[in-house]
Amino acid sequence: MKPYQGKPGFWICGSTHGNEYTGTEVCLYIIDKLVSGYGSDDEVTRIVNGQTFYVCPVVNPDGLFNSLEKGIPQRQNSMKKDDDEDGKVNEDGYDDLNGDGHITRFRYKDLKGQYIIDDEDPRLMIRLRREQKTDKPRYSVIMEDKDNDKDGKRGEDSERGIDLNRNFPEGWFRDNTMAGGQGDYPTSAPETQAIAEFFTNHTNILMAQNYHTSGGFTYRPMGTAPPTQLHPKDVAIFDFIMGKKYLEIIGEEVPKAWQKPEALNTFKEELKKTSKNKYAISRGYVLPRGWRASYNEERDQRYNYGMATDWMYMQLGIYAVTTELWNPQRDIKDFPQFKGPDTRIQSQRALLKYQDEKYGGKLFISWNKFNHPELGEGEIGGWIPKYRSNAFPGEPLIGVCEKHWQFEKFRAGLQPEIVITEAKARLLYTAKSASDAVASQKGDQVTIKKGKSKGKYKIIEVTATIENKGKLATHLARGAQLAGNRQDVVWLIGDRDRVTYLQGSPFQILGVIEGTMKIPGYTGRGAPGPPQAQTQRRRMMFFPPGFPMFRRGPRYGPTRVEQTGPKRTVTWLIAVKGDTPLKIVATSQKGGTQVKGLSIQ
Ligand SMILES: [Zn+2]
Repeated sequence: MKPYQGKPGFWICGSTHGNEYTGTEVCLYIIDKLVSGYGSDDEVTRIVNGQTFYVCPVVNPDGLFNSLEKGIPQRQNSMKKDDDEDGKVNEDGYDDLNGDGHITRFRYKDLKGQYIIDDEDPRLMIRLRREQKTDKPRYSVIMEDKDNDKDGKRGEDSERGIDLNRNFPEGWFRDNTMAGGQGDYPTSAPETQAIAEFFTNHTNILMAQNYHTSGGFTYRPMGTAPPTQLHPKDVAIFDFIMGKKYLEIIGEEVPKAWQKPEALNTFKEELKKTSKNKYAISRGYVLPRGWRASYNEERDQRYNYGMATDWMYMQLGIYAVTTELWNPQRDIKDFPQFKGPDTRIQSQRALLKYQDEKYGGKLFISWNKFNHPELGEGEIGGWIPKYRSNAFPGEPLIGVCEKHWQFEKFRAGLQPEIVITEAKARLLYTAKSASDAVASQKGDQVTIKKGKSKGKYKIIEVTATIENKGKLATHLARGAQLAGNRQDVVWLIGDRDRVTYLQGSPFQILGVIEGTMKIPGYTGRGAPGPPQAQTQRRRMMFFPPGFPMFRRGPRYGPTRVEQTGPKRTVTWLIAVKGDTPLKIVATSQKGGTQVKGLSIQ
């Protein structure tokens, strides 16, 4: 094991969708905070020492390149794909018709159009509701584009490939109606494959963030499965701990139930009267705007498939979330707040005005006459793609970065931390042979009977206390159920030719060690145990009084420590021929590893 994998892992990534690059900025900001704060900021120093951050600022480099450098908004990767199945690849993408370096929009008068020009700010196109009547001229608004392959369609086979956040192996299925597509099979995209491989090789990852834009809210799992698929303990940690903090940071109202978890039953009763959402009723709260699941609880309907966050939670047991960064109304200082049915339009007007004042109007290209080769007269203009759904540069972007750094720092502070708080090796006596040692056991109490003779074998009792000093348990409830995850163990290691284990196997299974934090909103027992098939349940060796050891024969199976809570105390009885260095290794897949040398007293 690499030393950095002996610590809890924290994965943070951005630009899975190429046009959503604010996440890349947040990743870089977090790297800067971790690096520059190390050694000078106590909290940062502690979290960097205690865990490993894996930051991947760009998951989708081709999509990002096209979006930023070529001015073509591209959510997907650039995997070669014959989107329109005409035998040619990428022959009809978007076109920079006016050659200004950006793909914006083309608007043209159209009797069947769904847009009108805003009276107050003629740069703004207002979308009509279905069946809405108007006496103003109707417009259609399309991407800046023409029909390059003369098949009657525009932009139907661009460079865009697969939507990476639909290509993960959880709840994946083929859906040919999906723009861009989910790929031929899960992880068919090299980017998704690389991430899957990375997670497979870094099983210490317990916390994860997948940054996207926009909206200013966070998705916690699940999207492809109903909420009943999540363990209530995991739900409580996601919502009452992480969700509450997130809402406080973004300045949104925290559900009453999260503020008063002890009154959860009252909230459940209240919801029975006011809500038809059966999941909300059984939880005691409706998920707020800012902290939600993409599964549609009202309609009991799954949202899409193959998403990273679902995969990380369900198949790996990770506190994975997807934050949709950037909400201009909230992230721009002193941005006017609107209410009522016109909120959207008023906000859009205010946003245009804001970029006029603060950015000299450079984020939006004013409409200019253009004669389209197929559609005739119209105008080209609109938001520059890279600013369309990303945080505006300068103060707003820094604000977004800082808020999310605070959030991830908080989550880093929740990680488990395995510590050997006490370890002792005590020489009981010496014997002529290992089998001279006689032990008897009553419950947890082991009594050693001294042998008669002095000899070259040291009979040694080793005790160790292993604690989880971190706030959360070493596995999610979901993580403890997964066959691919391992439970925490402690090893007593010495020279194998010289050490005989009389009581306690070389490694003892500690189970999942709880953290120090009481989980609000969760009243059940600790994390559920792993599936039965995965454990080798073995009782501690039992020696009847006076029963000579050698007749029992060697037992190599691991012993299991039946203790719960954040602490385990473990005992071994060993016979050592001559001398050997002794080491205790407490190791947790996601809770860290600690090694302690022992001197025999
Ligand atoms: Zn996205």
